[in-house]
Amino acid sequence: MAGSGKTTFMQRINAHLHGKKEPPYVINLDPAVTHSPFQSNIDIRDSVNYKKVMEEYNLGPNGGIMTSLNLFTTKVDQVLGLLEKRAAPDPANPARKPIKHILVDTPGQIEVFVWSASGSILLDSLASSFPTVIAYIVDTPRTSSTSTFMSNMLYACSILYKTKLPMIVVFNKTDAKDATFAKEWMTDYEAFQEALNNDESSNAFGGQEGEGAGSGYMGSLLNSMSLMLEEFYSHLSVVSVSAMQGTGIDDFFEAVKEKAEEFKRDYQPELDRRR
Ligand code: GDP
Ligand code: MG
Repeated sequence: MAGSGKTTFMQRINAHLHGKKEPPYVINLDPAVTHSPFQSNIDIRDSVNYKKVMEEYNLGPNGGIMTSLNLFTTKVDQVLGLLEKRAAPDPANPARKPIKHILVDTPGQIEVFVWSASGSILLDSLASSFPTVIAYIVDTPRTSSTSTFMSNMLYACSILYKTKLPMIVVFNKTDAKDATFAKEWMTDYEAFQEALNNDESSNAFGGQEGEGAGSGYMGSLLNSMSLMLEEFYSHLSVVSVSAMQGTGIDDFFEAVKEKAEEFKRDYQPELDRRR
């Protein structure tokens, strides 16, 4: 979601890897970002001018982003060529270490990326060459009501379904609000049910006052969705971080390692089969 801290998180993990003397390869796919706090090795803004694209094709912001992505996607072979070269040892320059991590920042309007043909092409191309993992960044303080939490998780679920890649849910801003409540809701069905029942807002959608979320249309919809989400949760890694203060970053990279293994074990064979 916009403002959840994706860019701050990118900056943090980038600095973390630099600190470990394993500088990552950084790709910015957001054509509309005006200033980036980190240096990218490949930047969509170097090859397409988002403002000009909007003018030239008479588009609004989302159309501008989508068209910019489409234009960039025509160069995906070149991008992959560069990445593959940097991920392999260079015989002419043995001192240069192959890169171990590629970080990709997505456009602010994530739905444009996830639901566009070029987004799929870019992701599939990456996944065909490297173990690829999605980090879904959650604004923890802004997800503390059961209904925003549920919407956020359904959104994550739709991205998992669309991309078919392993996912890490990153609860960010835990300096401002601890994510224990969220982790509890994800592991203890009854705890979430109880929170639903206590959540006044769910009454607004149906049922009588005081009856809780178990009644009315919205209540039974929420109950069914939380059952579905239980299945979704069982496939995720979950970490708590503060991109601002730098806590939880080691946990994140542990999860990346785990999910990369999972990619090779479960996702790769499926990708090969589909190709
Ligand atoms: P993006 O739109 O997802 O790229 O979000 P940004 O990285 O631009 O961050 C949005 C706002 O959230 C900024 O004001 C950040 O300073 C703030 N922010 C990001 N990470 C954290 C965090 O870990 N803790 C707190 N308290 N604020 C954060
Ligand atoms: Mg951003």
